[in-house]
Amino acid sequence: MGHAKNQMMEREDEVQDVINRLKDAGAIVECEDHYTLIDNDDPDAVDEVRQELATEVGAAKGDELIEAAMAHAADECHDCRKIRAD
Ligand SMILES: [Zn+2]
Repeated sequence: MGHAKNQMMEREDEVQDVINRLKDAGAIVECEDHYTLIDNDDPDAVDEVRQELATEVGAAKGDELIEAAMAHAADECHDCRKIRAD
């Protein structure tokens, strides 16, 4: 039980690390008002991080982590959209 939880934490840490890398590369941007992660629609920046990960953890795991990280990024900030709609 404890072991499984630790593994999950590690996994979250890994995904968080990849999110940070994607932010540094410009593949993900953060809404300044709401800290929402937004997909910057920059495939070159994503590829940059993908190649980095491929050499570090292998292409298959790298792809998987990229996918998990990008799943945290929305097309736009929903809170900003709400404010605009008001
Ligand atoms: Zn926002």
